Amino acid sequence: MTTNTGFTTQIVHADRHFGVEHGGLHKPIHTSVQYGFDKVEDLIGVFQGTLKGGYNYARQGTPTTAALESKLTQMEQGVGTVSFATGMAAITALFLTLLRAGDHLVSSRFVFGNTNSLLGTMEDLGIAVSKVDVRDAGLVAAALRPETRMVFVETVANPGTQIPDLEAIGQLCRDKGILFVVDNTILSPLLFRPKDVGAGLVIHALTKTISGHGNALGGAVIDTGLFDWTSYPNISAAYRKGDPKQWGLMQVRKKGLRDMGGTLSSQHAHLISTGAETLALRITHSSATAMALAEFLESHPAIAKVHYPMLASHPQHALAKKLFKAGSWLMSFELKDADSCLAVINRLKLPIAATGLADNRTLIIPVAHTIFWEAGAAVRAEMGIADGLIRLSVGLEDGADLVADFAQALAS
Ligand SMILES: *Cc1c(COP(=O)(O)O)cnc(C)c1O
Repeated sequence: MTTNTGFTTQIVHADRHFGVEHGGLHKPIHTSVQYGFDKVEDLIGVFQGTLKGGYNYARQGTPTTAALESKLTQMEQGVGTVSFATGMAAITALFLTLLRAGDHLVSSRFVFGNTNSLLGTMEDLGIAVSKVDVRDAGLVAAALRPETRMVFVETVANPGTQIPDLEAIGQLCRDKGILFVVDNTILSPLLFRPKDVGAGLVIHALTKTISGHGNALGGAVIDTGLFDWTSYPNISAAYRKGDPKQWGLMQVRKKGLRDMGGTLSSQHAHLISTGAETLALRITHSSATAMALAEFLESHPAIAKVHYPMLASHPQHALAKKLFKAGSWLMSFELKDADSCLAVINRLKLPIAATGLADNRTLIIPVAHTIFWEAGAAVRAEMGIADGLIRLSVGLEDGADLVADFAQALAS
């Protein structure tokens, strides 16, 4: 497939690159854990990395996970991908395989709640972490130390929709030779490619936008090919071999999958692959609905504030317009009467009170009472999470039905 075809064209034809098995149009679900060889030399070749495309034990991947990884590499226009059982497994493996005690990590202050908790675990392991307001690249520059190895941000923060100063941070990391890691879960490569602002690695919770449907967990680390691994001190001698563009992911795969074992199953890789075929259709629809809903809520007298990047009132609206094709399905809002937040949610008939993101159904959750409960009031204040903040993951329902439902729920 030529690379100048469209996003969806590439995804739906990607499996054919691998050779069609028995005429099947989908990559089959390969369930074998072990892979055998007629000649023991080939088995040795897989172990020693000289037999390309070989498999030995499914903890390091199967033909089905490889087919998904190839699609993800194509979507982010990278040079390789390692898939994981969940988004958190991908982020954990990335941190544990590429950072060492004594290193310093600069992270966005506005990150997914479990990622924020994981940063605490990294500190326990001797990795210093600075949490920075990444809307200002100057603050990122000020936080850098000689031992800073990585800058970590999310393209659009959940739930507050803060957007990092992506271009300036990318330039800063390039100038300093620091690895820039971008969690692009919310937007997906359809709306924004972190490679365009100089990211070296891209993270996805495949569970969300890429898979949709809410029926499979998965995660991925994708290498854009921009980072120079020869200058990265934490690559072990064993992985400083072959094409330097693959050194980082080789270490992430060997240590993160082979040794740590957070492997994506073939069954879930298959679900995510088929979900990804409709990514463009889903996110185009849900972004349009989210925009209509954001405008409706912003004009409603019961609403104090709506956080959505494509609203002119969003503090980084100009940046979002410049870099992103659309605003995605994620938004949050605050009621003027914070105490009415639970009653409003209960009056809604379509949005389901549930955690989770990018399901086909609209999901709604009061943030301070749930996902940021354990974090405590101080962390919530630092992350800009008001007590009455409500997060919405806009699904595939017809937009007019959602607007009508919010109108009735807010009218009482
Ligand atoms: C959900 C999410 C994760 C974690 O993904 P899981 O598959 O649920 O483990 C990480 N980052 C972001 C931005 C997310 O939304």
